[in-house]
Amino acid sequence: MKNGHAPLLSAEEVWALMRKEATPVADCEMVTLAQALARVLAQDVRAPITVPGFDNSAMDGYAFRAADAHGARELPLSLRVAAGDKPGALVPGTACRIFTGAPLPSGADTVVIQERCERRGDTLILPEQWTPHANIRRAGEDIRAGDLILTEGQALTPQAIGLAASCGFTEVLVRRRLRVAVLSTGDELRPAGSGPLVEGQIYDSNRPMLHALLGRLGCEVHAAGALGDDLTRTRQALREAAQTADVIVTTGGVSVGEEDHVKAAVEAEGTLSLWRVAIKPGKPLAFGRVGGTHFLGLPGNPVSAFVTFVLFVQPFLKAIMGATPTELRAFPVHAGFVRETPDNRREFVRARLVSRDDGTLWAQAHPRQSSGVLSSTVWAEGLIDIAAGRCVAEGDTVPFLPFEGVLI
Ligand code: AMP
Ligand code: MG
Repeated sequence: MKNGHAPLLSAEEVWALMRKEATPVADCEMVTLAQALARVLAQDVRAPITVPGFDNSAMDGYAFRAADAHGARELPLSLRVAAGDKPGALVPGTACRIFTGAPLPSGADTVVIQERCERRGDTLILPEQWTPHANIRRAGEDIRAGDLILTEGQALTPQAIGLAASCGFTEVLVRRRLRVAVLSTGDELRPAGSGPLVEGQIYDSNRPMLHALLGRLGCEVHAAGALGDDLTRTRQALREAAQTADVIVTTGGVSVGEEDHVKAAVEAEGTLSLWRVAIKPGKPLAFGRVGGTHFLGLPGNPVSAFVTFVLFVQPFLKAIMGATPTELRAFPVHAGFVRETPDNRREFVRARLVSRDDGTLWAQAHPRQSSGVLSSTVWAEGLIDIAAGRCVAEGDTVPFLPFEGVLI
């Protein structure tokens, strides 16, 4: 397949083609909540208990029965209840000192916050106005026993882990981790830490970056190493990685230069689709299989590798992890830049947000959008998605795709 003949696809077409290939891994495992972050739930979770299990005070203050206090400005204090206590019933016509989270004694139905009350010895002086039934958190306000609290396919966030713990769970059933082998290719690459560079060499930035991106998605990363531009070695590395990995991700070597061997190696060891994606930054994106293992070949330019990971690799991996598909959700912001000449490719511009005094958000574009400028991805907080052929005037509404959230 010559690069010139590689089909030119839109991002939507690539997503659709990838989705077709994304069969979720079947194996599941129980993990403790401490290990559950970013893992994908393999079953729905229902609450075994009601939370909170009892009516309790939402504030530090005083509790009493509203009917007892109508017309009265004073009530004798007969009880003190702190969080964790098991109070008896409140004596009718009296009030109770109560603290946040403490169970409401039976007979009480109202809490007035302490700042609004006065106290003389064991007598409570009520404010002139108070609201019956206020400041109480009802049993079951959060969850009722039997409620569906988490759903299969949900990637577990810290909040979801907290919610599971609030129902007494210590473990959850999740899909097994994906095993992803990462390979970088290029004779010019040296791993950081291997000594100073000689002329013509660069440190390998893609491999550590991909490790970090994959780690954040909850994948188990297999370091398949860095390869020179050599067909035999590349074929061998692919064969080896395919024995254990669910997915192989490579960077570099998928163009059609004489030194680009990844394409030929995958074709020899498996099957390959090579697509030109009509986006910028973007280059040929390789997709295929080596044996039963998925193969994704990203461009070597670090920015292109990062952007294609965000746009294509992570939704694909999430689908194989069993995660319910979600849209890449962009939100509207004002363009703090202009674009007078339209591009014929959809462009993802590295940008950061600045909020103005009136509360509006404006996107600043990084001045150097070349795909070799990795520092721009550190500066940026996300990507502005500019449709092919679109000109942008200062203040126009443009969609902003934050890195946070997309990358979990
Ligand atoms: P390639 O896709 O192999 O033609 O590489 C395109 C550009 O990206 C070249 O300038 C490479 O030196 C650079 N590059 C490729 N792989 C890496 C890597 N792992 N880390 C940093 N730069 C890379
Ligand atoms: Mg190369």
